[in-house]
Formats: sequence, structure tokens, C-alpha cells
Amino acid sequence: MHEPEHTPDNADGLPRWEPAHRPISVLWLTSGLGCDGDSFAMTAATHPSLEDLLRGVFPQMPPIIIYNPVFAYETGDDFMRAWFDAAEGTLEPFVLVLEGSVPNEEINGDGYWAAFGVDPVTREPISSCTWIDRLAPMAEAVVAIGTCAAYGGIPGMRNNPTGAMGLRDYLGWDWSSRREIPIVNIPGCPVQPDNITETLLCLVLHLAGFGPPIELDEQGRPQRIFGRTAHESCNRAGLAEHGQFSDEHGDGRCLVKLGCKGPVVKCNVPIRGWVNGIGGCPNVGGICMACTMPGFPDKYMPFMEADASTRMYPSAARFSYGPVLRYLRERRIRRTFDVEPEWRQRGAELTSGYRQSAA
Ligand code: SF4
Ligand code: SF4
Repeated sequence: MHEPEHTPDNADGLPRWEPAHRPISVLWLTSGLGCDGDSFAMTAATHPSLEDLLRGVFPQMPPIIIYNPVFAYETGDDFMRAWFDAAEGTLEPFVLVLEGSVPNEEINGDGYWAAFGVDPVTREPISSCTWIDRLAPMAEAVVAIGTCAAYGGIPGMRNNPTGAMGLRDYLGWDWSSRREIPIVNIPGCPVQPDNITETLLCLVLHLAGFGPPIELDEQGRPQRIFGRTAHESCNRAGLAEHGQFSDEHGDGRCLVKLGCKGPVVKCNVPIRGWVNGIGGCPNVGGICMACTMPGFPDKYMPFMEADASTRMYPSAARFSYGPVLRYLRERRIRRTFDVEPEWRQRGAELTSGYRQSAA
């Protein structure tokens, strides 16, 4: 997935918004402990799409070249060339992306937990941790994509033998790139596709000097994306406010009694949808399982049961303000808002107050 096309406007073939921009390479390491689900998810992005990024359709955007084994035409040594070039300092500038959690190679016995490519001389596998150690200090910015890379995720569950952890756990929570950008965490299992492409776009615009830094919250997530809970933007939140809760799947009401963790989970999927605005977990009847959260999955299991904090919520809403609010609103709707204004009627006189006063 190389060489994005740009419309040249001069003889030397530079893109329109040159000369300030050089292409930014995105070295996307998928060989953490993960499933490549975020790479696949990104192919469904629409706002912006992956194609938009690669074709550089946005004003001021520098050209991007993404090196990701899931998309690459090249294989073997041909594919690995960019990675060795980056390690030798001949592929600047670049952004390092990690997908999948970081194993603890200090407890790997006689082998290794995760590797990517082989040493050109010894032909021994190169561990993923070695690539992180080589490339992170040289990267303009480092991004942890997916809950596994951000916080450990499913491979980082309690009792896992690999000691899997998130990238900030590995490099340090205070670590920042040579451009003084902290690690950007974009959690999700997988990440909502547009959350990936939007963050990459904002990041490269910032690196090119045309955008502000991405504001991160204390868990390293873009504040703009993860600033609200799933519940705050769920299309069933109005029903929840009126004390309308499902006791079984399929009746379209709030799912909190069935285990939905939306009230305590930072995620924009209910409002952004999944693909092109469509879908979005609780919007379409699936409980929120908290897949964007640092404690996922252990802290939220068993998924299909309401935990103590969310168990209180339906009772409080149902037996106190919920029915009262619903009654008052329905009455007001019936008497005031769901009726035609009184001046819209046949007759010999103009009864509209506006027209009368205007006359
Ligand atoms: S379904 Fe979940 S996210 Fe939606 S309103 Fe109910 S508790 Fe909140
Ligand atoms: S709504 Fe919940 S389950 Fe769905 S993507 Fe967001 S955090 Fe994950």
C-alpha cells in the first residue's frame, strides 16, 4: 500500500501543497499479541476513508504511505525493507503504530512470544519488542491502536502466561516521542474505523504544522472522541430516562438490566455508528461490553449481568423520577405540543395573532 497519488501542479511532480510537506510513513506493527482486527476495521472507515488518507484529498495534508502487512502487496524481504530503513534512519519522518498487546519477553523461557521479520544475517526472528525499542525513539509519534495495544486487552487478562501489557505499560506512562507527543491510545475491540482514520489525519496534520496537537485524556485517549460515555449518546438513553428497561432482548428499550455497561464506558460508537453512521452496539440491540476500557475484559465480566453500580440505576429511574418525568412529558405533549396552533382554521376572520398585529 504505497505511493499515494497526488495531482502535480508543477514540473517536478510535487503535490499541490508542497514544498512544506514530505511524505509521512506510517509503520504499522501488527505483531503485538492481537488479531489484526483493527487493520481490517480501518478498511471500513468512511469519515475519512482509508482511500481519502492514501490519496491525500484533504487540504494541507501531507502524503501518507502506510506500511501494514495486512494490506501489503510485498512479502518477505521486500516488505521488511522499509522497517530496516526506518531503523537505520533513512525513512524519516515516520509514525509508529502498534496493534496488539506487548508481551513480556523477560519471561519467555527459551523462545519468544511475538516476532516480526528475521535478522538479515542470522535469519533469527526479531521480536516485536525489539522493533518497538528500535523504532519508538526515532518516531515522530507513536500510536497504540486497539484495546490490546492501549491497555493489554484480551491477551492481558489475569493469569495469561505472556505477561501481556499495553504500550504505555511497556514504554512508560510518561514516555513521549522526540516531538514530545505522548503515546496516543485509540482503544476498541476492534476500534471504530473512523476513530482510526480521523486520529491519523489529525496527527499528520499536526506533524506537518497545520493542526493543533491532539488533546489526550488521562488514559491517553483523544478527548474529542472519548470524552463522553456510550450511554450519553445512545439512542435508547431517552427510554432509560423514563424508566423503560428491557427484561429480554428484542423489545427496543434500554439494555442496562441485560448487562449493558454503557453508563460507565467512554465510547463514541453509539453516536458515530459502526460503518458510515450505521449500527453502534446498544443502538442496534447489543449490550455495551466496555471494549474500549482499560480494565476490559476482566473488570466487566460476566458481560451479560448488570454490575452493582448499573443495577441500582434502573431501580432508581424506574421507581422515582422516571415515571414522573414520563407522565408529565406525555401530558404536556398531548395538551400543548402535539396539537395544531389554534389560528389554523377555516373562517371569515384572520385569527393569526401575527397577521393581525402586522395589519
Ligand atoms: S442501552 Fe446501554 S448505553 Fe443505551 S441507554 Fe441503556 S444503559 Fe445506556
Ligand atoms: S459501545 Fe461498548 S461494546 Fe460497543 S464499541 Fe463501544 S465500548 Fe465497545
